[in-house]
Amino acid sequence: MVRRDKHIHTLDPLNASAMSEAKTVGVQRPQEVRFQMVDRLPLPSDSQLQAAALQTGFLGPMIAGLTLGHSILIRHGQMSRRLLSHECRHVFQYEQAESIAEFLPLYLQSIVQVGY
Ligand SMILES: [Zn+2]
Repeated sequence: MVRRDKHIHTLDPLNASAMSEAKTVGVQRPQEVRFQMVDRLPLPSDSQLQAAALQTGFLGPMIAGLTLGHSILIRHGQMSRRLLSHECRHVFQYEQAESIAEFLPLYLQSIVQVGY
């Protein structure tokens, strides 16, 4: 399998073009965004969150990316400009909510509605 993401390293900041993309979708502090390529998305250790994740299908094998705060996790092979832009939109939502506690219900709701 060809890995198109091999130039991307663990916990990278956004490059210049990704940073301008992030600004385009409203991210206020794109310099704080970090992303990481992962083999699989982790289940939350918190039992309530884990139950919510499993119940909604959130973090199932088809999920390409996950955003928590300024951290974006993207599964290997799934990186694309569209996905990064989508996840940056969640960073924007997080910045508006100003805490993960406020952001998470919105995020889970959007996952239920849109599928990711
Ligand atoms: Zn999403």
